Amino acid sequence: MHELLADERIAAYEAVLGRNVVKRAADEIFGRVRLSGNGSYEAIVSEVVSRLDLLQAQALLPVVNATGIVLHTNLGRAPLASEALVAVAEIAGGYSNLECDLASGERDSRYQRVSGLFGDVTGAEDSLVVNNCAAAVLLVLDTFAKGREVIVARSQLVEIGGGLRVPDVLQRSGATLVEVGTTNCVYVADFERALSPRTALLLRTHPSNYRVEGFTHDASARELAELGRRAGVPVAEDLGSGALVDLAQYGAKHERTVQEALADGIGLVTFSGDKLLGGPQAGIVLGHAHLIARMKNNPLLRALRVGKMTLAALGATLQSYRDGSYARRLPVYRKLAATLEELRERGGAYLDAMPKARIVDSEAYVGAGSLAQERIASLAIAIESERPDRIASRLREATPAIVARVSEGRVLLDLRTIDSEDDAAVIAACLSSLT
Ligand SMILES: *Cc1c(COP(=O)(O)O)cnc(C)c1O
Repeated sequence: MHELLADERIAAYEAVLGRNVVKRAADEIFGRVRLSGNGSYEAIVSEVVSRLDLLQAQALLPVVNATGIVLHTNLGRAPLASEALVAVAEIAGGYSNLECDLASGERDSRYQRVSGLFGDVTGAEDSLVVNNCAAAVLLVLDTFAKGREVIVARSQLVEIGGGLRVPDVLQRSGATLVEVGTTNCVYVADFERALSPRTALLLRTHPSNYRVEGFTHDASARELAELGRRAGVPVAEDLGSGALVDLAQYGAKHERTVQEALADGIGLVTFSGDKLLGGPQAGIVLGHAHLIARMKNNPLLRALRVGKMTLAALGATLQSYRDGSYARRLPVYRKLAATLEELRERGGAYLDAMPKARIVDSEAYVGAGSLAQERIASLAIAIESERPDRIASRLREATPAIVARVSEGRVLLDLRTIDSEDDAAVIAACLSSLT
């Protein structure tokens, strides 16, 4: 170990990374190699150096998603379409008309162009884009409900994941929560009884990763919208996933779409940009123009605003819905649409290279919040091993890094979420992790 840290090739990193980081990396790799009992001094040095290189780059790394979870929050959710990447490169690499109306030369709103696209695709009167869906919900509450009351069904007071809890966001926004109904049942009459002069908002949230089964009842969005109209109280719905198209065509359960929520008369609909929309991280609010106008006047918007890269990527993504090419262009929908025959054919190449591997039935998940548990039939490459965790860990250290699942003594690589262009690299990494 001493010799390792004194080695010039390793010591050179101390100036940049500090002694502790270098020592920890060397310790970890040295310990692992000593356990396995093979690995020359030179091999250890080269492994430590490549780890330190990686740390020095301090950047995000591309990863092959072999988990079968199409929208995986830890792996960055939706991959962008190549049209979106081109738009980002074109806009971010230079100046743009971000807030400039080229016709008049006057200042313009950065939200306007994307609003036009959302209007064309969903029929929404107006829209607003912020950093993420949590920020969108916060902005809705801050604008309408600060110091006043928000009525929510008890069955929808959930924790969405990543520590996002509906009651906590409500509290942070300074609104008072008024819970109605029971854990399993809520009726529109419950909302009506809870109305008071202090009521600022009726809120519906997607219960996401949580399901109430058996004897249940929900107040429908249409009923709530109608009640809100009569009482003069805005109604908001947090959809989370924000599907613009029917997911049933991909063998998943039908997920309430943005257009359906708007058609039900919901005044403010919120959802994420990087879930089923297939775009960049963003929080989107669509709805009635007079409500969005109030949000645009909220000074908090300035703290949540998105940059030109987000707007460029979002614009290109929406374009593919407007011209009907989304299924072909957006990676999320290409992955969802792949047939089992296509997956089986790709799997053949894995078996040719690894005769001991097998193709097994698998279940892929749509993932990310509201569809976390929605399953789609898939196929996986199964590698049987005495130490599957070790193989999985070696795959994560490969270049590109591969994130796989371990189950019942096997490493499982789900073909649905692996890009077909990555198959050759994944096969090569598997072969070297097996030696
Ligand atoms: C995912 C999700 C959110 C959070 O979205 P972010 O874009 O990650 O902030 C909020 N609400 C629901 C219902 C969700 O599914």
